[in-house]
Amino acid sequence: MMISGSVVLSYINCKREAWLMAHGVLPDQGNMHIEIGRFIHEDYSDSVMLPGMKIDTMFEREGVRVVGEVKKSSASKRGAEYQLLYYLYRLEEKGVKARGEIIVPKENKRIPVELTEENREKIKKVLEEVSSLLEEETPPPPKRKGICRKCGYELFCFS
Ligand code: SF4
Repeated sequence: MMISGSVVLSYINCKREAWLMAHGVLPDQGNMHIEIGRFIHEDYSDSVMLPGMKIDTMFEREGVRVVGEVKKSSASKRGAEYQLLYYLYRLEEKGVKARGEIIVPKENKRIPVELTEENREKIKKVLEEVSSLLEEETPPPPKRKGICRKCGYELFCFS
């Protein structure tokens, strides 16, 4: 099963969400938070699609390629960091060197992310964990937590 950047992001937030997404269970498209996310991404029409990657924006700054991931708020910084590390790691495998940037337009923030030696080990470990999770026949059971109220699977998990 193909791991994607979105699955890595979900894994950091909730293992059940990652399993559902990777197994093709669609989140509620009418979920307000998903709609806000779509709206924020509308300003970034230069997204790049590669296998397992939907990069929001890619540009060059001072001769360095930068991969940007656009987020609603910096509250989701940790997941976005792993999502970017996944992209940087996959790009590096293809011989493409790049840096990452979490872009939070509403907060006027740009948070740099680099594939350092330490971060490379972190993303490799997470990818191993995600692979094991996706091999499970059933998803982990739902556990109510703060992020559930913003999750597109809330109805699926708790109704
Ligand atoms: S609603 Fe909660 S438990 Fe269910 S997938 Fe979303 S975050 Fe995970």
